[in-house]
Amino acid sequence: MDLRKGDNVLVIKGRDRGKTGTVVAASPTTKQIKLEGLNVVKRHLRKSSRAGQPGGITEKIQPIPASKVMLICPNCHKPVRVGHKTVSNKKERICKKCQAIISYAKK
Ligand SMILES: [Zn+2]
Repeated sequence: MDLRKGDNVLVIKGRDRGKTGTVVAASPTTKQIKLEGLNVVKRHLRKSSRAGQPGGITEKIQPIPASKVMLICPNCHKPVRVGHKTVSNKKERICKKCQAIISYAKK
């Protein structure tokens, strides 16, 4: 999986197809990502004094499979496929269209 937190992606499948969003969480083990403001579901929570929850309706981001999004190249601003290249012993992502190195967003 070539996506990290902070990447801009385009959703290509599902309910949010055609929308773009920023990755807020990425899980390489399950190959799923969460996008800011996309695939949000409302959860109706029962009030629970034991767990200290006030109850009510909260919004929760559901993860979507990383295969259903494409990375948007920060250089040519198009949804692109990602290649790899080793630059000074570091594995970097490159844009398949413009060959620019797409560095990972800093934390
Ligand atoms: Zn590009």
